[in-house]
Amino acid sequence: MKTFKYKWKMHDNEIIGSRDCDDEASLRRHVEANGGQLIEILEVQEKAAPKYTMLKKCPYCAEEIQPEAIKCRHCGSDLLKRSEPTYISNVRSNPSHADSYRPPQGGNNGLAITSFVLGILAVITSALGIGFLLAIIAVSLGPGGRDSKYSALAGWGMLLGWFVIIGSILVAILWGSIWAALIFSSFRR
Ligand SMILES: [Zn+2]
Repeated sequence: MKTFKYKWKMHDNEIIGSRDCDDEASLRRHVEANGGQLIEILEVQEKAAPKYTMLKKCPYCAEEIQPEAIKCRHCGSDLLKRSEPTYISNVRSNPSHADSYRPPQGGNNGLAITSFVLGILAVITSALGIGFLLAIIAVSLGPGGRDSKYSALAGWGMLLGWFVIIGSILVAILWGSIWAALIFSSFRR
């Protein structure tokens, strides 16, 4: 389909017109059917590709079909029996749909909260020695809650957990080297 801008004549009047046609021949036919005469074509524009229409997927054969379809044109299935269609390209064509659309919450809220609580406990108890263990649990539970509603808590849980883990390792290395230095120096004497 192209958009023709053309000059035509009717009753000695020259008129500029614009019309969507497949080709020049069908444009000429249209003008002549109106009792006019095509003089010249001024401009031909390839018609822009059609905008995204809100297609849905046939629940039976998974081909794309019009949302109003009551019967699939690919497999012939009766679509009235099935309830909510699966929209596959509604976001671009229909802003109101895009606004209300939320991806499913995949993460586990409980894991996120647990990770956060354990992270805090790990920091509090890190001086007592069990903080390291709690921190490891917090860090390992965190990813499970990352996509949940409380993803920020999961993030904090993991952050605090890593903080305690790395801190504990550094403290252990520090104490270890102090002890090593003490033992070494006592042997030297
Ligand atoms: Zn189908």
